Amino acid sequence: MPHPLHTTHERSFDAYRFVYPVLSRRSRGLSVGVNLNPDKVCNFDCIYCQVDRSTQSETEFVEIDALLKELGEMLAVVRSGKIYATEKFCSTPPALRRLNDIAFSGDGEPTTYQNFDAIIEACAGAKRAAGLDDVKMVLITNASMLHRPHVQRGLEILDANQGEIWAKLDAGTEAYYRRIDRTPIPLRQILENITAAARVRPVVIQSLWMRVGGEAPSQEELDAYCDRLNAIVAARGALRLVQIYTVARRPAESCVTPLSDAEVDAISRLVRRRVGVPAEAFYGVIS
Ligand code: SF4
Repeated sequence: MPHPLHTTHERSFDAYRFVYPVLSRRSRGLSVGVNLNPDKVCNFDCIYCQVDRSTQSETEFVEIDALLKELGEMLAVVRSGKIYATEKFCSTPPALRRLNDIAFSGDGEPTTYQNFDAIIEACAGAKRAAGLDDVKMVLITNASMLHRPHVQRGLEILDANQGEIWAKLDAGTEAYYRRIDRTPIPLRQILENITAAARVRPVVIQSLWMRVGGEAPSQEELDAYCDRLNAIVAARGALRLVQIYTVARRPAESCVTPLSDAEVDAISRLVRRRVGVPAEAFYGVIS
């Protein structure tokens, strides 16, 4: 799932179809994205999604061999530093000229990919083969499928390969969740999945808050959201970090606009105070 993580977010690098490099100021380096949903199908329909679904993708299926070839080449180009000779990355500041992670995100929910465990294993192998043991593998997920056995196998492989789970939670109440994430999957399922995952390893929560039709989220919604986070912690789930975002790119629906920096800061403070876990704020700019 694409999230407002990256500031540069083109999905193509030359003719690549599954792998794309992005400069991430947040992770202070490059992230190599792996798109497991080239067909742009997602089991959520978030009102703030920035995947352009107005055009059909030419690539419908993941082609594992092609994906691994692209990944191997991309890791080599980044490791050699040749990527900084390209037009797109030549202005990368020296401090950011490092590979931080391989991120499974893309144009839909990565865990809906049926061979999720196999592709995670293969990508971990490519990372090992490139000698990149200090490079993380980040799964950016809406958490809807984490209970599936093959996804759990994939998570175990991530755990053994510097993996991190960044799970989305955009609401505190079922009604707001349905309004924002627009999916028939109940919020209860998402919360159970995040809790179960967080009991095995610390999880990062990503929450995007916004104005909808000019209205910011109510205090009741934000309090309910903190209650949900507290319930995860009370069930012995470990939350490494809560990332509070607002809209940073043009979203699917024009009624969606960013919160102010002060509003994002206030939600981060609320999380720190009410849940007692680290929270970081990321501000919005729509170009
Ligand atoms: S989970 Fe939401 S933001 Fe992510 S790809 Fe699906 S619809 Fe878009």
